[in-house]
Amino acid sequence: MEHSCAGKDEAEERLRSDEEEEEEEGWDDWCSDGDDTVAGGGGLLCLFCSSRFDTEGSLFSHCGAEHRFDFYKIVRELGLDFYGCIKLINFIRSKVAENKCWSCGQAFSCNSELCSHLQAQETHQIEGHVPWEDDAYLKPFMEDDSLLHSLSIDDDDEDEDGCGVSMDRGQCSTLNGGSAEPPLENKLSTATEGNGSDISARFEQKCTIESTEGEGRESLAQEQNDTQLKVARASVNTKAIKTVDDNYFGSYSSFGIHREMLGDKVRTDAYRDALLDNPSLMNGATVLDVGCGTGILSLFAAKAGASRVVAVDGSAKMVSVATQIAKNNGLLYDETKEVEQKRSPQVISVVHTKAEELNHKIQVPPNGFDVLVSEWMGYCLLYESMLSSVLYARDHFLKPGGSILPDTATILGAGFGKGGTSLPFWENVYGFDMSCIGKEVTSNSARFPVVDVVSSQDIVTETAVLHSFDLATMKENEMDFTASFELRLSEDGTVVPGVTWCYGIVLWFDTGFTVRFCKEKPVVLSTSPFSTPTHWSQTIFTFEEPIAMAKEEYLLSSSASVGTDECPAVMIRSRISIVRASEHRSIDISFETTAISSDGRKRGWPVQIFNL
Ligand code: SAH
Repeated sequence: MEHSCAGKDEAEERLRSDEEEEEEEGWDDWCSDGDDTVAGGGGLLCLFCSSRFDTEGSLFSHCGAEHRFDFYKIVRELGLDFYGCIKLINFIRSKVAENKCWSCGQAFSCNSELCSHLQAQETHQIEGHVPWEDDAYLKPFMEDDSLLHSLSIDDDDEDEDGCGVSMDRGQCSTLNGGSAEPPLENKLSTATEGNGSDISARFEQKCTIESTEGEGRESLAQEQNDTQLKVARASVNTKAIKTVDDNYFGSYSSFGIHREMLGDKVRTDAYRDALLDNPSLMNGATVLDVGCGTGILSLFAAKAGASRVVAVDGSAKMVSVATQIAKNNGLLYDETKEVEQKRSPQVISVVHTKAEELNHKIQVPPNGFDVLVSEWMGYCLLYESMLSSVLYARDHFLKPGGSILPDTATILGAGFGKGGTSLPFWENVYGFDMSCIGKEVTSNSARFPVVDVVSSQDIVTETAVLHSFDLATMKENEMDFTASFELRLSEDGTVVPGVTWCYGIVLWFDTGFTVRFCKEKPVVLSTSPFSTPTHWSQTIFTFEEPIAMAKEEYLLSSSASVGTDECPAVMIRSRISIVRASEHRSIDISFETTAISSDGRKRGWPVQIFNL
């Protein structure tokens, strides 16, 4: 087939002309070319002309031979990640539609002139910033652009030709470095509706929030059709990518979530105290604030005497807001006044970037930053958390032995009683028994974790530590763990004599700004049911059926099953695994529960699997 150059055309026009051409030449003529070109609207449309190909490789070799455009070379030389490739393709298509040379910007009167120009060019040199940096180029220029859909996505660093674009867990890996970037993590938002708090942010991107209860308690149901999840592996839908980026950072562009975080006094006080009350750490330090949002942590750092603060965020909106806030508070760095600024509090620079790509945007201090601070925690600590981005930033931009704030994170759990469910509410609604609803709701809760505040009075067992992370040393793959622990009734008198029913296990987390880095004032940020509630609330996992528990001295019936009121358990043994799910950013949680009676009999329940 003749690789004709179309005039100024929308993709559809080209498509139409291809179809007409096909009719004229007939199918045999199309096929007789013997190359990879395919007929009609199928196949991958060349970036510059109306030729179509059935593989990305053949398309790009054509682009190299016919249009002097070496896609893989550009990708390698610029270290473009997956998103960079998507942007490059959309950028070129947009320029070609205007008959402009994508590399020198020269405009032509028709596409064939443009093609001749491209053929005459030796190389397409690009220096400094690439013109397709703008996230707007993530949006497919051409509707249903099969090239974007078929861009090769391997788990290996390189494809067979050693030139493809690889991807890991829904993320991009650079071609030149070959190292997989960590997932773009984003702590999503919201809390519960029950107490009237704003539901928006922290959950809305991945999970549907199933309102299961009139009082506002909500379950997180796995949304099967969520487009974000499609990003993960082989076939990447570029519209979804746009959605992912929009969603990742778009949700943080809404001020409601920042209001909620800043207004969470337990949270913000903890960071303030850690930053302001540890002068030996902060005085003169260079600080990296990963995910700055409004820039609050950077403002604290500047106030604490940091010599330089780099605040990064993937949300363009928040970067402009944080810049304005730093400026309005006299803390924004002004590079035009470098000399005068030696002793000035104007130390904050705000950078619009994903943390993982900071070095593409600025010159990172040669030995790295002294301190990395970030508020990355999600529900149940790890749900939708941006921890992997923080670990990446730690490994690439923090100086060896530098300080990370917070530096510990611990997941804890305890058994809860009936008051931790909605049963009491439904048992008496204006004097009427609506417990049939309560039962249905509770049995739903055995499938979906619920995020809500549990009162300390409803905790019926001792607290168990499930897992601790040392954020200064942990590796990304250590985010997945299995913990075995035992729960016995609490000793503190909240449990009445006789049988106590345990309805499930509630999890929460504490993060520590320990004495390792915070020598003057170590701080703990706790989201425990025994502390002031935070916007993270707690995460509630309900058993399939409640388990009767009692102290040792309880008289047992030898024939009854363990965990019933005739043979209550003295201990619940639990094994919980929390692993990142194959779907980008969600976590799978599995629970194995065994009740053990005082005479050593055991009863186990089928494993419960939750996806958060
Ligand atoms: N530090 C602020 C905001 C915390 S919310 C505060 O304490 O109030 C987390 C912020 O991190 C959001 O603004 C989000 O856009 C940003 N973020 C999440 N993942 C990121 C990443 N990989 N790179 C850069 N910013 C990220």
